[in-house]
Amino acid sequence: MILMERPFIFINSAMSADGKISTKERKQIKISGNIDFKRMDQLRAGSDAIMVGIGTVLADDPSLTVKSPELQDKRIKAGLDENPVRIIVDSNARTPIGADIFIKGKGKRIIIVSESAPPKKIAELKEKGEIIVAGKDKVDLPEAMQELKERGIKQLMVEGGATLNWGMLSNGLVDEIYTFVGNVIIGGKTSPGFIDGAGFMEKELLKLELMDSEKIEEGILLKWKVLQK
Ligand code: NAP
Repeated sequence: MILMERPFIFINSAMSADGKISTKERKQIKISGNIDFKRMDQLRAGSDAIMVGIGTVLADDPSLTVKSPELQDKRIKAGLDENPVRIIVDSNARTPIGADIFIKGKGKRIIIVSESAPPKKIAELKEKGEIIVAGKDKVDLPEAMQELKERGIKQLMVEGGATLNWGMLSNGLVDEIYTFVGNVIIGGKTSPGFIDGAGFMEKELLKLELMDSEKIEEGILLKWKVLQK
Protein backbone atom coordinates (compact mmCIF):
# COMPACT_ATOMS: atom_id res chain seq x y z
CA MET A 1 0.00 0.00 0.00
CA ILE A 2 1.32 3.46 -0.91
CA LEU A 3 0.77 5.88 1.95
CA MET A 4 -0.38 9.28 0.76
CA GLU A 5 1.75 12.25 1.73
CA ARG A 6 -0.38 15.16 2.86
CA PRO A 7 -0.11 18.12 5.27
CA PHE A 8 -1.15 17.98 8.94
CA ILE A 9 -4.78 19.10 8.61
CA PHE A 10 -7.17 20.48 11.20
CA ILE A 11 -10.66 21.97 11.03
CA ASN A 12 -11.47 24.98 13.17
CA SER A 13 -15.10 25.99 13.50
CA ALA A 14 -17.56 27.89 15.66
CA MET A 15 -20.94 26.28 16.14
CA SER A 16 -24.13 26.90 18.09
CA ALA A 17 -25.11 24.71 21.06
CA ASP A 18 -27.18 22.69 18.56
CA GLY A 19 -24.26 22.16 16.15
CA LYS A 20 -25.12 24.72 13.47
CA ILE A 21 -22.47 26.94 11.88
CA SER A 22 -24.86 29.45 10.32
CA THR A 23 -28.56 30.29 10.07
CA LYS A 24 -30.91 29.20 7.28
CA GLU A 25 -29.93 32.42 5.42
CA ARG A 26 -26.45 30.81 5.15
CA LYS A 27 -24.64 34.00 6.10
CA GLN A 28 -21.76 34.39 8.52
CA ILE A 29 -22.94 35.03 12.08
CA LYS A 30 -21.14 35.81 15.32
CA ILE A 31 -21.05 32.70 17.51
CA SER A 32 -17.89 33.29 19.54
CA GLY A 33 -16.37 36.33 21.26
CA ASN A 34 -13.04 38.20 21.25
CA ILE A 35 -11.01 35.57 23.09
CA ASP A 36 -11.97 32.85 20.62
CA PHE A 37 -11.41 35.23 17.73
CA LYS A 38 -7.80 35.80 18.94
CA ARG A 39 -7.30 32.04 19.27
CA MET A 40 -8.48 31.61 15.68
CA ASP A 41 -6.16 34.38 14.50
CA GLN A 42 -3.23 32.62 16.19
CA LEU A 43 -4.15 29.36 14.48
CA ARG A 44 -4.21 31.16 11.13
CA ALA A 45 -0.86 32.83 11.77
CA GLY A 46 0.70 29.51 12.75
CA SER A 47 -0.48 27.67 9.62
CA ASP A 48 1.09 27.44 6.18
CA ALA A 49 -2.32 27.65 4.51
CA ILE A 50 -6.02 28.23 5.21
CA MET A 51 -8.66 26.53 3.08
CA VAL A 52 -12.41 27.08 2.54
CA GLY A 53 -15.05 25.76 0.15
CA ILE A 54 -16.60 27.86 -2.62
CA GLY A 55 -19.90 27.82 -0.68
CA THR A 56 -18.27 29.85 2.09
CA VAL A 57 -16.68 32.28 -0.38
CA LEU A 58 -20.04 32.90 -2.07
CA ALA A 59 -21.94 33.18 1.23
CA ASP A 60 -19.52 35.17 3.39
CA ASP A 61 -16.80 36.56 1.12
CA PRO A 62 -14.15 36.10 3.86
CA SER A 63 -10.67 37.60 3.42
CA LEU A 64 -9.07 34.90 5.63
CA THR A 65 -6.27 37.31 6.56
CA VAL A 66 -4.33 37.32 9.84
CA LYS A 67 -5.86 40.25 11.71
CA SER A 68 -3.34 40.99 14.50
CA PRO A 69 -0.49 43.33 13.38
CA GLU A 70 1.80 41.61 15.94
CA LEU A 71 1.12 38.18 14.43
CA GLN A 72 1.64 39.57 10.92
CA ASP A 73 5.00 41.07 12.05
CA LYS A 74 6.04 37.79 13.62
CA ARG A 75 5.39 35.99 10.31
CA ILE A 76 7.30 38.61 8.32
CA LYS A 77 10.28 38.42 10.76
CA ALA A 78 10.28 34.64 10.26
CA GLY A 79 10.66 35.23 6.51
CA LEU A 80 7.04 34.36 5.71
CA ASP A 81 4.30 36.25 3.88
CA GLU A 82 2.09 38.32 6.20
CA ASN A 83 -0.76 35.86 5.52
CA PRO A 84 -0.71 32.09 5.03
CA VAL A 85 -1.56 30.79 1.57
CA ARG A 86 -5.32 31.15 1.08
CA ILE A 87 -6.97 28.27 -0.74
CA ILE A 88 -10.44 27.85 -2.26
CA VAL A 89 -11.90 24.45 -3.22
CA ASP A 90 -13.94 25.31 -6.29
CA SER A 91 -14.64 22.55 -8.89
CA ASN A 92 -16.18 24.86 -11.49
CA ALA A 93 -14.04 27.97 -10.96
CA ARG A 94 -17.01 29.97 -9.68
CA THR A 95 -14.91 32.19 -7.37
CA PRO A 96 -15.71 35.84 -8.14
CA ILE A 97 -12.69 37.80 -9.41
CA GLY A 98 -13.58 40.53 -6.91
CA ALA A 99 -13.61 38.18 -3.88
CA ASP A 100 -12.06 39.65 -0.72
CA ILE A 101 -9.57 36.76 -0.61
CA PHE A 102 -7.98 38.29 -3.73
CA ILE A 103 -8.32 41.91 -2.67
CA LYS A 104 -7.35 41.99 1.01
CA GLY A 105 -3.88 41.32 2.44
CA LYS A 106 -0.64 40.11 0.92
CA GLY A 107 0.28 36.51 0.25
CA LYS A 108 -0.29 33.65 -2.12
CA ARG A 109 -3.69 32.31 -3.20
CA ILE A 110 -4.50 28.90 -4.66
CA ILE A 111 -7.74 27.92 -6.35
CA ILE A 112 -8.29 24.16 -6.61
CA VAL A 113 -10.55 23.33 -9.55
CA SER A 114 -11.62 20.18 -11.41
CA GLU A 115 -11.01 19.27 -15.06
CA SER A 116 -14.55 20.42 -15.91
CA ALA A 117 -13.97 24.05 -14.89
CA PRO A 118 -14.43 26.44 -17.86
CA PRO A 119 -10.98 27.32 -19.32
CA LYS A 120 -11.97 31.00 -19.69
CA LYS A 121 -12.75 31.26 -15.98
CA ILE A 122 -9.56 29.41 -15.09
CA ALA A 123 -7.57 31.90 -17.18
CA GLU A 124 -9.18 34.80 -15.25
CA LEU A 125 -8.48 33.20 -11.88
CA LYS A 126 -4.85 32.55 -12.89
CA GLU A 127 -4.35 36.31 -12.69
CA LYS A 128 -5.29 36.12 -9.01
CA GLY A 129 -3.56 32.98 -7.83
CA GLU A 130 -2.13 29.58 -8.63
CA ILE A 131 -4.44 26.92 -10.04
CA ILE A 132 -4.39 23.26 -9.05
CA VAL A 133 -6.48 20.90 -11.16
CA ALA A 134 -7.55 17.77 -9.28
CA GLY A 135 -10.49 15.51 -10.15
CA LYS A 136 -12.79 15.18 -13.16
CA ASP A 137 -16.08 16.92 -12.26
CA LYS A 138 -15.48 17.59 -8.58
CA VAL A 139 -12.28 18.41 -6.74
CA ASP A 140 -10.50 15.21 -5.75
CA LEU A 141 -9.53 16.20 -2.23
CA PRO A 142 -6.93 13.44 -1.54
CA GLU A 143 -5.12 14.31 -4.78
CA ALA A 144 -5.31 18.02 -3.99
CA MET A 145 -3.91 17.51 -0.47
CA GLN A 146 -0.98 15.55 -1.91
CA GLU A 147 -0.31 18.39 -4.33
CA LEU A 148 -0.39 20.94 -1.50
CA LYS A 149 2.20 18.90 0.41
CA GLU A 150 4.40 18.84 -2.68
CA ARG A 151 4.11 22.63 -2.81
CA GLY A 152 5.53 22.90 0.71
CA ILE A 153 2.35 23.18 2.79
CA LYS A 154 2.96 21.28 6.00
CA GLN A 155 0.12 22.60 8.18
CA LEU A 156 -3.32 23.29 6.72
CA MET A 157 -6.20 24.94 8.58
CA VAL A 158 -9.67 24.21 7.18
CA GLU A 159 -12.29 26.85 7.98
CA GLY A 160 -15.39 25.18 6.54
CA GLY A 161 -18.04 25.22 5.50
CA ALA A 162 -20.27 22.27 6.21
CA THR A 163 -19.86 20.51 2.85
CA LEU A 164 -16.09 20.86 2.62
CA ASN A 165 -15.80 19.67 6.24
CA TRP A 166 -17.68 16.51 5.21
CA GLY A 167 -15.53 16.06 2.10
CA MET A 168 -12.35 16.28 4.16
CA LEU A 169 -13.53 14.04 7.01
CA SER A 170 -15.16 11.40 4.83
CA ASN A 171 -11.92 11.09 2.86
CA GLY A 172 -9.87 10.56 6.03
CA LEU A 173 -8.00 13.83 5.53
CA VAL A 174 -8.39 15.44 8.96
CA ASP A 175 -6.06 14.95 11.94
CA GLU A 176 -7.68 17.24 14.51
CA ILE A 177 -10.91 19.22 14.99
CA TYR A 178 -11.30 22.33 17.15
CA THR A 179 -14.86 23.44 17.73
CA PHE A 180 -15.99 26.40 19.76
CA VAL A 181 -19.55 25.69 20.95
CA GLY A 182 -21.33 28.97 21.67
CA ASN A 183 -24.31 29.82 23.89
CA VAL A 184 -26.91 30.17 21.19
CA ILE A 185 -29.43 27.92 19.46
CA ILE A 186 -29.91 28.31 15.70
CA GLY A 187 -32.13 25.38 14.68
CA GLY A 188 -33.63 24.80 11.26
CA LYS A 189 -33.19 21.72 9.07
CA THR A 190 -31.71 23.77 6.23
CA SER A 191 -29.23 25.68 8.40
CA PRO A 192 -25.73 24.24 7.82
CA GLY A 193 -24.43 21.98 10.56
CA PHE A 194 -20.78 21.51 11.39
CA ILE A 195 -20.69 18.57 8.97
CA ASP A 196 -23.26 18.19 6.19
CA GLY A 197 -22.77 16.05 3.07
CA ALA A 198 -24.11 12.50 2.82
CA GLY A 199 -23.33 11.52 6.43
CA PHE A 200 -21.98 8.23 7.77
CA MET A 201 -23.96 5.01 8.28
CA GLU A 202 -23.92 3.54 11.78
CA LYS A 203 -21.16 1.06 10.95
CA GLU A 204 -18.99 3.78 9.39
CA LEU A 205 -19.05 6.31 12.26
CA LEU A 206 -15.87 8.28 12.60
CA LYS A 207 -14.37 7.98 16.08
CA LEU A 208 -12.72 10.84 17.92
CA GLU A 209 -10.56 11.17 21.01
CA LEU A 210 -11.13 14.19 23.24
CA MET A 211 -7.75 15.94 23.66
CA ASP A 212 -8.85 18.99 25.62
CA SER A 213 -11.80 21.14 26.66
CA GLU A 214 -11.77 24.70 27.92
CA LYS A 215 -14.48 27.14 28.95
CA ILE A 216 -14.03 30.36 26.98
CA GLU A 217 -16.36 33.23 27.82
CA GLU A 218 -19.90 31.80 27.54
CA GLY A 219 -18.98 28.77 25.47
CA ILE A 220 -16.66 25.81 25.37
CA LEU A 221 -13.73 24.91 23.14
CA LEU A 222 -13.43 21.21 22.34
CA LYS A 223 -10.28 19.78 20.82
CA TRP A 224 -10.63 16.38 19.18
CA LYS A 225 -8.16 14.03 17.58
CA VAL A 226 -9.60 12.07 14.64
CA LEU A 227 -8.92 8.35 14.99
CA GLN A 228 -8.20 7.24 11.43
CA LYS A 229 -9.86 3.97 10.36
P1 NAP B 1 -18.60 25.03 1.68
O1 NAP B 1 -18.43 23.81 2.50
O2 NAP B 1 -17.83 26.24 2.02
O3 NAP B 1 -18.28 24.72 0.15
C1 NAP B 1 -18.82 23.54 -0.41
C2 NAP B 1 -18.51 23.47 -1.86
O4 NAP B 1 -17.14 23.12 -2.08
C3 NAP B 1 -19.29 22.37 -2.54
O5 NAP B 1 -20.62 22.73 -2.76
C4 NAP B 1 -18.49 22.19 -3.80
O6 NAP B 1 -18.89 23.16 -4.76
C5 NAP B 1 -17.06 22.52 -3.33
N1 NAP B 1 -16.33 21.27 -3.35
C6 NAP B 1 -15.51 20.90 -4.37
N2 NAP B 1 -15.04 19.70 -4.19
C7 NAP B 1 -15.55 19.25 -3.03
C8 NAP B 1 -15.41 18.01 -2.34
N3 NAP B 1 -14.66 17.04 -2.82
N4 NAP B 1 -16.08 17.86 -1.18
C9 NAP B 1 -16.83 18.86 -0.69
N5 NAP B 1 -17.00 20.05 -1.30
C10 NAP B 1 -16.37 20.25 -2.49
O7 NAP B 1 -20.15 25.45 1.58
P2 NAP B 1 -21.43 25.17 2.52
O8 NAP B 1 -21.53 23.75 2.94
O9 NAP B 1 -22.57 25.80 1.83
O10 NAP B 1 -21.09 26.01 3.81
C11 NAP B 1 -21.22 27.42 3.79
C12 NAP B 1 -21.88 27.87 5.07
O11 NAP B 1 -20.98 27.60 6.16
C13 NAP B 1 -22.16 29.35 5.09
O12 NAP B 1 -23.42 29.56 5.66
C14 NAP B 1 -21.09 29.92 6.02
O13 NAP B 1 -21.53 31.07 6.71
C15 NAP B 1 -20.88 28.76 6.98
N6 NAP B 1 -19.55 28.75 7.62
C16 NAP B 1 -19.49 28.79 8.98
C17 NAP B 1 -18.26 28.72 9.63
C18 NAP B 1 -18.17 28.71 11.15
O14 NAP B 1 -17.10 28.39 11.70
N7 NAP B 1 -19.22 29.01 11.86
C19 NAP B 1 -17.09 28.63 8.88
C20 NAP B 1 -17.20 28.60 7.48
C21 NAP B 1 -18.44 28.65 6.86
P3 NAP B 1 -18.50 22.90 -6.30
O15 NAP B 1 -19.14 21.59 -6.68
O16 NAP B 1 -19.01 24.07 -7.03
O17 NAP B 1 -17.02 22.82 -6.31
